[in-house]
Amino acid sequence: MNIDGYSKEITKSLEDVVSILQNAKDLTVAKEKVSLIVDSDIAESENYISKNIFKMENLLSGLLNLSRLGQQELKKEKLNMNNMMADIAKLMTYQVTNSDTKLELCELPFCTGDAIQINQLFSNLLGNALKYLDSERSGVIKVSGRNQQDHSVYCIEDNGIGIAPEHQEKIFEIFYQLEPAKVDGEGLGLAIANKIVNRYGGKIWVESELGKGSKFFVSLPL
Ligand code: ADP
Repeated sequence: MNIDGYSKEITKSLEDVVSILQNAKDLTVAKEKVSLIVDSDIAESENYISKNIFKMENLLSGLLNLSRLGQQELKKEKLNMNNMMADIAKLMTYQVTNSDTKLELCELPFCTGDAIQINQLFSNLLGNALKYLDSERSGVIKVSGRNQQDHSVYCIEDNGIGIAPEHQEKIFEIFYQLEPAKVDGEGLGLAIANKIVNRYGGKIWVESELGKGSKFFVSLPL
């Protein structure tokens, strides 16, 4: 059932409540019947509707984000990636601590780009590294980087669930998700990351082994 269906369920439940109250002979019995409808049927529908509105809002803001990326001016600032990664990690402290994950931030080289967009790119990658950890073992995530000719190459490595070879290219496509029902997400994060990297003449790719973990590499101009 969709949002429209659940909102019709609420209307129907409210009609039932009105009818119970209008025809009530014994107020105690009527109160019990109304409580049952409010606490189960209405609460369930309301819960479904709010969850789906939240998902729709996320999807909409992600899509807007993706479409606006192509229109924004291409800013080229020299970025201190040590500061940026530290800021991103700080915002994710809750998830890191809560999942008992060891997050290692190595010394990172500079790169050139738009601070907001590059921040978004690395937030998506670190967010995914945390989201796709394996509940069977403690999480270990490492962010490292090196210079390679006129580019900086960064690596976000996790020991999470990993990605089978047949999915490794497709995950950068919009809406491509391996197990959409299991995690929160709209399948936009890597499509956004890919678009940002392409705009700056960089590259993004993954090396991964199912059941062992993944390494996401990003190459950006110095
Ligand atoms: P979302 O996380 O919202 O589903 P993304 O575009 O960020 O969308 O990622 C696409 C898919 O790639 C995810 O649904 C997941 O299946 C897979 N994926 C991304 N990052 C990782 C990771 N670090 N480890 C395992 N799978 C990943």
